[in-house]
Amino acid sequence: MDLSDSAAEAAFRAEVRAFLDEHADKYPNRGRGGFEDGEFPGSEAMQPWRDALVEKGWIAPHWPKEYGGAGLSAQEQFVLNEEFAEAGVNNVGGFGVMMIGPTLMVHGSEEQKQEHLTKILHGERNWAQGWSEPGAGSDLASLQTRAIRDGDEYVVNGQKIWTSGAHRADWIYMLARTDPDAPKHRGISLLMFDLKTPGVSIRPLINMADGHAFNEVFFEDVRVPVRNRLGEENRGWYVGMTLTDFERSGIGNAVGVQRILRGLLKQARTLPEEQTRAARKKDGTWRLAFADRWIEADIARLFSYLNMTIQLRSLIPNHEASMSKLYTTELNQRIASTTLKLFGLYGQLWDKDRPEALRGMAARGYLGAVSSTIAGGTSEIQRNIIATRGLGLPRG
Ligand SMILES: Cc1cc2nc3c(=O)[nH]c(=O)nc-3n(C[C@H](O)[C@H](O)[C@H](O)COP(=O)(O)OP(=O)(O)OC[C@H]3O[C@@H](n4cnc5c(N)ncnc54)[C@H](O)[C@@H]3O)c2cc1C
Repeated sequence: MDLSDSAAEAAFRAEVRAFLDEHADKYPNRGRGGFEDGEFPGSEAMQPWRDALVEKGWIAPHWPKEYGGAGLSAQEQFVLNEEFAEAGVNNVGGFGVMMIGPTLMVHGSEEQKQEHLTKILHGERNWAQGWSEPGAGSDLASLQTRAIRDGDEYVVNGQKIWTSGAHRADWIYMLARTDPDAPKHRGISLLMFDLKTPGVSIRPLINMADGHAFNEVFFEDVRVPVRNRLGEENRGWYVGMTLTDFERSGIGNAVGVQRILRGLLKQARTLPEEQTRAARKKDGTWRLAFADRWIEADIARLFSYLNMTIQLRSLIPNHEASMSKLYTTELNQRIASTTLKLFGLYGQLWDKDRPEALRGMAARGYLGAVSSTIAGGTSEIQRNIIATRGLGLPRG
């Protein structure tokens, strides 16, 4: 199979590269991977980069043109993702562009589309996702946050947890139980509201890499207009599943992995011996591990191609997206471990002002990679999906 660019893809790749040549330097701390403290899709530091993307129409590359997106095909999105990763920059989409925006296009009323889509595209409304609760993660349909109808409003009481970016977001979309007597998947509705609504409080959760990325969010008699419900009452689970399909598309999972490995290879070849002893060890353990990562990165890329070809046939990847998510996130952890081992004791340095061990990124990356096999559905849940939906094994 020939995986090289077609003429059209090559032309699009050249267009992306020309854009990056002109604008990539607007991305703060380019090449550091992920967002640094104080940088997030809606932050001021990100504004020049955001403006360049808006002008080019690439804030929402996958949205249809009628909604202000770029209408890119799955192949073009893949090329865009690859080139952005190669240049060390991220898109600024966030939950708005990636999840709730496309879901609004499918399930939203005309009024809801008018109210939200343009604001999402211009970065004026950033979103948090209120799914998980202390007693509902993998088994999300066990959620207990209540929304009781009172005339034209719902009164929401309960708690969400692990809510990424809620401290920076403007609005939240969340699942709440609107009929406690219905079977558990059928009594849920999806609500959207301003996080400044009275009765909402947000408490930070600091992760083990000393970062503030997620939060607990509490709701105490929060009044939400009924018109802010997305989809029918008590059918929110199914609306939420549309959103999860967008989350799981699996198309961008592997991009960037090879770039990270090429960077590591360069370090192993060029850094002073005392900083990279592992690479020179006579028993070759590190070299063998690195060769494994190199092969695995190629496999991860093939999973992305698989998901891309499914989408090109206008289908939604299902267990295939789980295979990609599972493989790539577990690979990220192995890469983080191989990286840490290269630098030996220097790998423990945390300080961004010291040049060794990727300015502390070896240690930070190692701790940061742990959560990737939990977020968006744990590895066990992905394996269950592959086993049941992919292989037809009984659910047990
Ligand atoms: C970085 C990060 C960001 C996140 N951001 C958000 C966010 O923005 N919004 C949001 O709503 N949530 C968010 N989450 C929460 C995330 O969706 C949940 O952590 C995840 O779904 C797992 O749920 P849990 O933590 O309750 O673990 P549990 O579901 O309690 O699982 C505990 C353990 O049991 C295993 N397990 C559970 N059920 C099964 C089963 N049926 N078979 C086999 N093993 C099983 C799990 O794999 C896991 O190892 C985030 C999580 C992380 C790590």
